[in-house]
Amino acid sequence: MAQGEQNLVNGNKAYAESFTQGNLALPPSQKYVVLTCMDARIDPTSAFGIPLGAAHVIRNAGASARDAFRSLVISQQLLDTTEVLVVKHTGCGMLTFDNAAARNIVAANKGEEAAKEVAELDFLTFPDLEQAVKDDVEWLKSRKIEEGITFTGWVYEVETGKARKVL
Ligand SMILES: [Zn+2]
Repeated sequence: MAQGEQNLVNGNKAYAESFTQGNLALPPSQKYVVLTCMDARIDPTSAFGIPLGAAHVIRNAGASARDAFRSLVISQQLLDTTEVLVVKHTGCGMLTFDNAAARNIVAANKGEEAAKEVAELDFLTFPDLEQAVKDDVEWLKSRKIEEGITFTGWVYEVETGKARKVL
């Protein structure tokens, strides 16, 4: 068994044995969304105090608002969430490359034919962490569909476990 599968099987066995929360409602009970990075060092439910069933957690590379837009619209329009916390983090991989570099890596790893599949893809990298938090919050606020939604922006420090508010 591959490592991920092995962890799931073993971890889930232990989890299910003591699981008691099978009757939670589908809509998040506390009506908010945490958008954060897929970085393996972030444990959103523990680090941000999210009880099971309370909030949506959307994760992608860099906690990109544009990448998360589809899920945010579903969360808000179909499941009644009204607050979004955008949480990017120190040491994010998205600070370390750009579109051209990503395409070159794909070409080197997979060949030019495969690289064509990402020729038009915007990897949504960013050179400045706090500015990227502000930009993503501003981008969301500028959507008509986001009218009436409350936004805050945060930086989570993978070095200390602390989250600080940017806006
Ligand atoms: Zn990251």
